[in-house]
Amino acid sequence: LADRDGLIWFDGEMVPWREAKVHVLTHTLHYGLGVFEGVRAYKTPDRGTCIFRLKEHTDRLFGSAHILGMGMPYDKDTLNEAQRQVVRENGLEEAYLRPMCFYGSEGMGLRADNLQTHVIVAAWEWPSYMDPEARDRGIKVRTSSYTRHHVNITMCKAKANGNYINSMLALKEALDCGAEEALLLDNEGYVQEGSGENIFIVRNDQILTPDLTSCLDGITRRSIFTLAEELGYTIREKRITRDEVYVADEAFFTGTAAEVVPIRELDGRTIGSGSRGPLTEKLQTMYFDTVRGNRSQYREWLTPVA
Ligand code: PMP
Repeated sequence: LADRDGLIWFDGEMVPWREAKVHVLTHTLHYGLGVFEGVRAYKTPDRGTCIFRLKEHTDRLFGSAHILGMGMPYDKDTLNEAQRQVVRENGLEEAYLRPMCFYGSEGMGLRADNLQTHVIVAAWEWPSYMDPEARDRGIKVRTSSYTRHHVNITMCKAKANGNYINSMLALKEALDCGAEEALLLDNEGYVQEGSGENIFIVRNDQILTPDLTSCLDGITRRSIFTLAEELGYTIREKRITRDEVYVADEAFFTGTAAEVVPIRELDGRTIGSGSRGPLTEKLQTMYFDTVRGNRSQYREWLTPVA
């Protein structure tokens, strides 16, 4: 990923891709305290390439930095513009964007009182995080032996670099078991989220999702709430057990990278019909039509890059 043409926004300047480097004593590399976002831009029929819910992602980035007590050297407008610029100047029609704020190599140690926050925004083509077939057929998921972060161990509302050790351990375990994604439970055993996705289940024509106690406040999750409302559903947030997922009629994951992915199996138990459920399909179609600007609603969610 490092050896390619292109430009990365780095502390206010557009830097050639291969030169966007940091020192080995970069503080965040040692201790993991940093914050980031995953954002997508899609090609629309009438407004060119647009970034989906840019404002919400930037707000969450600033919220994450605030939670961790990281100073932010730029304002939101600057970072919004930086995100538009990287898509535009790299000539990308569709893109995955990665804004990230990290501490530099100004000093070492846990006091972290002598450091500067640096900011990058990169963008590249990253078509589908899941196998394209997964969108239609759904994926196999394993309940993880790793517990999702406890709210007083790491800050779950922050999209923090170090939080992803937990996600990566869980995902590797799931992949090693022949599944495609992990389902993480909280410290009391209730369903929380995937390694990088929120989860929803459908049962008896009701849509349920875990409350946000220890999962990330996903922006795709918020979009699904709105789209479901349009279909006449009020999504209920509640504690969910893993066996409630086993007996659900439908289940799906949501996330910026993963988009909307049906779950066809959890721990070897088939969910519903064992393929994408009808409500999942409806919401998935609405989601893709919305992000690609093929609907007249929610146009304010799309920010043109040009
Ligand atoms: N949970 C976790 C742990 C994540 O990493 C992500 C991806 N950012 C999500 C949920 C989904 O969030 P979003 O829809 O904002 O991408």
